[in-house]
Amino acid sequence: MNEMRGEPLVQRLQAELPVAATAFELAGRRCGLVIIDEQNGFATVGGGPLAPVEQNDQIDRMIGETDRLARRFEERGLPIAVFLDWHATERPEPPYPLHCLAGTAEAELVPALAWLEHSSAATILKADCINDFVGSIDPETGRNAIVEWIALHGLEAMVVVGICTDICVGEFVATMLSARNHRLTPPLRDIVVYEPGCATYDLPRSRAEALGLPATAAHPQAEAHHLGLWLMASRGAVVASAIG
Ligand SMILES: [Zn+2]
Repeated sequence: MNEMRGEPLVQRLQAELPVAATAFELAGRRCGLVIIDEQNGFATVGGGPLAPVEQNDQIDRMIGETDRLARRFEERGLPIAVFLDWHATERPEPPYPLHCLAGTAEAELVPALAWLEHSSAATILKADCINDFVGSIDPETGRNAIVEWIALHGLEAMVVVGICTDICVGEFVATMLSARNHRLTPPLRDIVVYEPGCATYDLPRSRAEALGLPATAAHPQAEAHHLGLWLMASRGAVVASAIG
């Protein structure tokens, strides 16, 4: 797979588009955790049309690391924002099939994170589009729930985890960087992506074509994950391999 020039593609990407990952220190900072779309429809085997079809190590690692990190934040009295992809109506969201309809099991948090629904540290935010910064805007009032959450807690840093690294996580982080630079989110300074807490889906080209999808539906997991990290890092996000 992807070995046209000897080395696997992901290793060539890591060599040619390197991402510098650091350890990020929580102590002494007012920091919030943002969890993106870790719900059955994206992260539980058989949980919906966009869910994994078989066990996946990267997704399991994401859930385990998110659970661990969220419990630390809760213990320290640090706030957690939990985004759910949530569609109140059957209005389509192209190019995706209908997914995560309100009130279905598909739209609920994965079982390991269901405790967050009852945590006083957590704020649940529902969005019906890929970009959770945009999804945080109330179309009627223009108020932005994530901007208000940052201001309410006086956050200087946020750590972002979730799925998919190159889709919802990437869009949110890229937009947050612009929002911060545009001074919409004081006092926020550091926007940190915790790599082991992120995952994306796996659809190699061969499987896409076997399913009757066009070749352009190809989405090999390791490569897409790396490209997502690289795009965020190149825009100014801090990529962390550990949270100290
Ligand atoms: Zn959606």
